[in-house]
Amino acid sequence: MTPPNITPPPLRNDCFALPAGVNWTSVDDALALLRSRLTVVTSVETALIGQAVGRILAEDVFAKRSNPPQPNTAVDGYGFSGAAPEGPQVMPLQDGRAAAGIPFDGAVPHGKALRVLTGAALPTGVDTVILEEDVTVQDGHIAFHGPLKQGANTRKAGEDVAEGDLVLPTGRRLTPADMALLSATGISEVAVRKTLRVAVLSTGDELVEPGNSAGPGQIFDANRPMLLSMIARLGYEPVDMGRVSDDREDLRDRLDKASEQADVILTSGGASAGDEDHVSALLREAGAMQEWRIALKPGRPLALGMWNETPVFGLPGNPVAAKVCTLIFARPALGLMAGEGWSEPQAFNLPAGFEKRKKPGRREYLRARVRDGRVEVFASEGSGRISGLSWAEGLVEIQDGACHIRPGDLVRFIPYGSFGL
Ligand code: AMP
Ligand code: MG
Repeated sequence: MTPPNITPPPLRNDCFALPAGVNWTSVDDALALLRSRLTVVTSVETALIGQAVGRILAEDVFAKRSNPPQPNTAVDGYGFSGAAPEGPQVMPLQDGRAAAGIPFDGAVPHGKALRVLTGAALPTGVDTVILEEDVTVQDGHIAFHGPLKQGANTRKAGEDVAEGDLVLPTGRRLTPADMALLSATGISEVAVRKTLRVAVLSTGDELVEPGNSAGPGQIFDANRPMLLSMIARLGYEPVDMGRVSDDREDLRDRLDKASEQADVILTSGGASAGDEDHVSALLREAGAMQEWRIALKPGRPLALGMWNETPVFGLPGNPVAAKVCTLIFARPALGLMAGEGWSEPQAFNLPAGFEKRKKPGRREYLRARVRDGRVEVFASEGSGRISGLSWAEGLVEIQDGACHIRPGDLVRFIPYGSFGL
């Protein structure tokens, strides 16, 4: 049989070159669109502060009490009134003492000193304290060397936080330190957002559950365990929707279930425009599909849509691209939906320990880590190289334009920790 007379297409050296007339959306435009279209979806409940760490404040919190609530001594020593001049000082001791929680009952006359212990409220007549180590006590008197400024070694009422001050703002994700601040300022319960529920679903005929046996052509589902644990680390409630094969009806059912059980859905795989790319096909059919050709590497394609009024992030199947898209696009969007507000990750400019030439047009994220003050990047940029995700401790962000990075040039490093992982 003679082979048919088919002409192959010309070779392209840039596999991401776009067909004529197709526009790329820049990362910044895509982020701005997400930011303008999404809003908070979680309702409000009350939490005791013992249960509130990691929760997101639903309203501004104001101090019910000043910290410190009254003037007190910062050290163990002797308290009296006013500044002490230069030179040796001798003062008679007042009977009694003031300790933390056991105030001195009465006033200290001018010219007399009272024994005071750290944290004790300053009694009437005391506004200055001399450190115990600088004092000789003898025959009912204390002696020390001046000068000492008025107010020395004391804390003023409200010098940290005054009653009525804004303590923590709406959208704050409460930290262990916040527990101390809330307690100290008299707050025992707070209004918080219910935890955002994020469904995670893998798609693909080739996927097998880790722990099962994998036949030829099959691979273990690597994205779902990664995405579920990222969701948990980000402080949201992961909802495991399992795997679904490349079957449109199965996928439809699973998306229905996910939209009942979660506030937002992350899928991976099937987001392109190919024959088996049912996520993008269904979202398009639902009529609310934005297939963004985002000028991003690695990260193509990202499909965004609504399923039963639930936002869907159709992430790429490649694990590296799935992770980068989750960090760059889903993370701030989830923050907005959860009530935390939109946030940009803290980046650091550090010297490169590598060389790289880049063409204009796309933003790039490289798997990276810092060693000896320099940024190293993973040897391969291939988006299927899962070992590089694990090797890395963050991403290097390279701007959209052309560039030639040489060793020692400053590059933008974003540690995974800056994303909340
Ligand atoms: P897709 O986006 O469905 O075309 O998938 C792109 C690539 O990612 C293919 O090589 C898939 O086999 C792979 N892939 C898709 N989903 C997963 C997954 N959950 N875990 C690991 N690899 C995946
Ligand atoms: Mg697939």
